[in-house]
Amino acid sequence: MSETALADRPTPENMPGHVQHYIDGRLVDSLDGTTFDVIDPVTNEVYLQAAAGKAEDVDRAVTAARKAFREGPWPKMLPRERSRVLHRIADLVESRNEQLAEMESFDSGLPITQALGQARRAAENFRFFADLIVAQVDDTFKVPGRQTNYVNRKPIGVAGLITPWNTPFMLSSWKLGPALATGNTVVLKPAEFTPLSASLWAGIFEEAGLPAGVFNLVNGIGEEAGDALVKHPDVPLISFTGESRTGQLIFANAAPHLKGLSMELGGKSPAVVFADADLEEAINATVFGVFSLNGERCTAGSRILVQREVYDEFVERYAAQAKRVNVGYPHDPATEVATLVHPEHYEKVMSYIDIGKGEARLVAGGGRAEGFETGNFVAPTVFADVPPDARIFQEEIFGPVVAITPFDTDAEAQELANNTKYGLAAYVWTNDLKRAHNFSQSIEAGMVWLNSNNVRDLRTPFGGVKASGLGHEGGYRSIDFYTDQQAVHITL
Ligand code: NAD
Repeated sequence: MSETALADRPTPENMPGHVQHYIDGRLVDSLDGTTFDVIDPVTNEVYLQAAAGKAEDVDRAVTAARKAFREGPWPKMLPRERSRVLHRIADLVESRNEQLAEMESFDSGLPITQALGQARRAAENFRFFADLIVAQVDDTFKVPGRQTNYVNRKPIGVAGLITPWNTPFMLSSWKLGPALATGNTVVLKPAEFTPLSASLWAGIFEEAGLPAGVFNLVNGIGEEAGDALVKHPDVPLISFTGESRTGQLIFANAAPHLKGLSMELGGKSPAVVFADADLEEAINATVFGVFSLNGERCTAGSRILVQREVYDEFVERYAAQAKRVNVGYPHDPATEVATLVHPEHYEKVMSYIDIGKGEARLVAGGGRAEGFETGNFVAPTVFADVPPDARIFQEEIFGPVVAITPFDTDAEAQELANNTKYGLAAYVWTNDLKRAHNFSQSIEAGMVWLNSNNVRDLRTPFGGVKASGLGHEGGYRSIDFYTDQQAVHITL
């Protein structure tokens, strides 16, 4: 456990009194004046009020975004000009790295060292799309002597961006970067558990010179503000990251409007460890893969499948390492796992731990982390011998809990790996080249990492298959999602 005491915990600088909406270049409250409570995950006490957006607030934001799209300079600017603004945004994010990380860590319970990494990634997302739109080329086709046909790419309009509470700042940058780079205007609805870091965007965008009305933010409860955004007739695009169940609901609610949808949903990703793998590396990486970000990571390798020859050794060493993971307060630089985001989520994770005790063999953790009287601290928990029909094998827990299952053959490993409704990520550990490629390609997952943790290359597709998502973002795929590609045909 951490040596740092709760009494030493600093409050981030420039903490706002309350969090407002940002509409048409101004910070505003909800029209009906209502707010909702935001909870400090270390104490579970209310520490902040945030404006609770309703349909009428969403409508104000959409109206401002629509006006900025139709009448403002942003969609018509040269890519080079928009790119300069995006680079200034990245510079500002980088210059506020520490403040951002402190706020993110305070609000969400992320360990501070990991929150620092997320702020850097947010800046990188802006730089990447700033460069990509300048390098962007579109197709032209010639039919000799008859036709020249080309693609006229254009922004679509008001993009509705709905984001979750895990790594909320970084994940919103992943949508804001390409949506803005391509000339759209946006309304962002951040998760209600963690509205703090998103409130910094307004100042960053203003300072970078983004025209008023291009970026709008409405805080609020998903079923109210999020729902109103999804159902708004003047929002042709929704990019959503969150639970698969919410994704299904949004899909249904957007259907009457035939909206463009990008869905980044839940996961129960397998890490498959063959007997020929470098065991030391595989153990280190799979410990990090499920316990970093408090286990609140969509691509967490939360099911580890281990070949029988090395199974007992793996389980023993893995459990020992999980017990050594340093649970501490979020602000302590030595902390590796801190507090889950919210007491409701803590209850959910703890209920899965209870279920797991009836389904499998507990080899590490199994309850509240010792030494923490308040907050949502869960001990890194490892279950072994988990049968494939167990709920802890099938369902997304989204906390520091991992299920380990043995297998004998490649075919059995493939069967187990694909045996959930999800298909977001997969990790494969083997030193056999042929097996590595053949196995990776047979996995039903949007992304596979071979002998590696989740290390992103922003040019590659990001997204899941099956219940983990619809559509892929990343690189030109994001540009495609946020633009219309009109075909113009010229008869010669
Ligand atoms: P969630 O689905 O509860 O909420 C996500 C967002 O949707 C929030 O802003 C919420 O207010 C909003 N929302 C809720 N109900 C809504 C409705 N009816 N209409 C419109 N908006 C609504 O998800 P969460 O608990 O915040 O996040 C955790 C989930 O996100 C996990 O399942 C995780 O795997 C997933 N996730 C996926 C990725 C990915 O890239 N695939 C990344 C991060 C998180």
